Amino acid sequence: MLERAELVRSADPEQFNELVGQLNASIKAASDRQRQKLEYLKAYQLSFSGRFDLGIEAAKTLFENSTDIETKVQAGSLIVNSYAATRDFSEGLRYLNQMIGLVDEVGDPEIRHHAWAAAGSISNHVGQYEQGIRYADLMLADSPSARTSCFAGALRMEAFYNMGQLSGRETEVRTIIDECVGAGEPLFANYVRAYHARLMADRGDRNGAIVLLSQHLDEVEATKYPRVIGEVYATLAEAYLAAGDYEAADRFARGVMRHATAMASSAPLVTAHRVLYESALQRGNNAAALAHHINYFDANSAYLNEVKARALVYEQVLGETREKNQTIELLNRENQVLQLREEASALATRNTQLAIALLAVLLGTIAFWAWRTKRSQVKFQRLAETDALTGVSNRMDFSRRAEQALAYCSKDGEEVGLVMFDLDEFKSINDRFGHATGDWVLQEVAKVCSDICRKNDRFGRLGGEEFAFLLVGCDLPSSVALAQACRKRIAAIDTTSTGHAFAVTASFGVSGTRASGYDFLTLLSRADDALYQAKHAGRDRVRTHGLEADTTTVAAN
Ligand code: GH3
Ligand code: MG
Ligand code: MG
Repeated sequence: MLERAELVRSADPEQFNELVGQLNASIKAASDRQRQKLEYLKAYQLSFSGRFDLGIEAAKTLFENSTDIETKVQAGSLIVNSYAATRDFSEGLRYLNQMIGLVDEVGDPEIRHHAWAAAGSISNHVGQYEQGIRYADLMLADSPSARTSCFAGALRMEAFYNMGQLSGRETEVRTIIDECVGAGEPLFANYVRAYHARLMADRGDRNGAIVLLSQHLDEVEATKYPRVIGEVYATLAEAYLAAGDYEAADRFARGVMRHATAMASSAPLVTAHRVLYESALQRGNNAAALAHHINYFDANSAYLNEVKARALVYEQVLGETREKNQTIELLNRENQVLQLREEASALATRNTQLAIALLAVLLGTIAFWAWRTKRSQVKFQRLAETDALTGVSNRMDFSRRAEQALAYCSKDGEEVGLVMFDLDEFKSINDRFGHATGDWVLQEVAKVCSDICRKNDRFGRLGGEEFAFLLVGCDLPSSVALAQACRKRIAAIDTTSTGHAFAVTASFGVSGTRASGYDFLTLLSRADDALYQAKHAGRDRVRTHGLEADTTTVAAN
């Protein structure tokens, strides 16, 4: 029903009104889209019946609120046409600008064509004829129906006529008339027919022009459309004037005048006044000619002013649109800048995060490598400082530490003792019980001697079966006492776990800083001397440097 109503809306107003009434009655069953379509038809009905203000209001509501793009464009087209009809061209052009961008999204070709027709029509109205032709050509390039071809053709002819470029287009004019007749559009057929008649009159066939239009006069009057009636009557009036039939010319000129209020400041009205003036002049009625000439002059001025005013309206709306587009463009750019700025800051944050992560990984790697390097360094250092067999300080480490301690103690004169010992007849232990047993003995000796060390004492293996103590804060007697204690512990080692029972003893030499000073090598060589003496005196005993009559013998302890 909606489709049928849309189809007959201009050709059969009666049926259209009836259908709209029926649709209104069944509004409850309608979908959202159907409801919007019906709203459009009702707005159309209002405008078509001359209540343009109500039609425009209804169409505007629909244009603002419709969710359906087709209904929106239909409403927009209706607004443009209605404003053109009420000659509020500036508002019409403003809505055209809002609506025209949506046309490409419309699927229904009829609705597209209707929108372009509205655009072409208002363009011609404001004197933008080339634009009018462009809209007409859009319609013609879009697989037009006969009706659309008729509308587009009429728009083109109107534009060419007003640009003074109609001559030479008689064939096209004929085709358009046929299309309009075929499409059941007498209004447009006769509108274009007026142009045809003008072309005929221009090439001297005044009678042909008169016959052509006279044949369709009833039809023209039946349209009740002032613009068409005016065009046809004015053309006839001119043709009759040229043919010398002043009576007929006057008749049609007055026919135009009857519709003067509906077509104020229009070309047909100017033509009508001019015809009246000229026919009066030709007939020698000077007083009437003068009166008509005054009217002609006024009508012509009004018409030219109107043409100028419409062109100005177009320029003004064009300026507004440009300004609006510039504002929109500016806003878009601003938005773009803001968006870019946001993206940049997000990127910067991400970069910072990445940099931090990278730095963390880098630091982690460095820390890991530093830790590993340190660990192996410590390991190597310990390896370099300790004796592999016994686990005590080796000669190098013992010497270094001893030198450090001596240097330190020399400052405040603290006494330091050095005890050195060498296992007795060790070669024979190796020889009798094997090298492994010899190693075992060395490990046991290192163990028992380490155990009696105090916190600040240093103990180390100098090489082979030789060991030494450095005793910080010990005078000679204390050092001797420690040597004796160590000697007893060695002698007490139980070797049965090796599978052999044998005695382990060692000979000791002691030196001290009070007699020998703080030089390590001197202390060492003096302890070595004393040790040699202990060996010489029969082994398993302690000898002290500088004391010939030694009290620290085995017997003495
Ligand atoms: P003295 O009482 O005069 O010191 O006699 P000695 O046999 O202990 O002295 P000598 O210098 O003749 O022999 C030392 C022996 O120590 C020789 C060597 O084979 C042995 N020796 C040196 N280092 C090691 C070792 O690491 N393990 C074993 N099992 N024997 C070692
Ligand atoms: Mg030795
Ligand atoms: Mg030895």
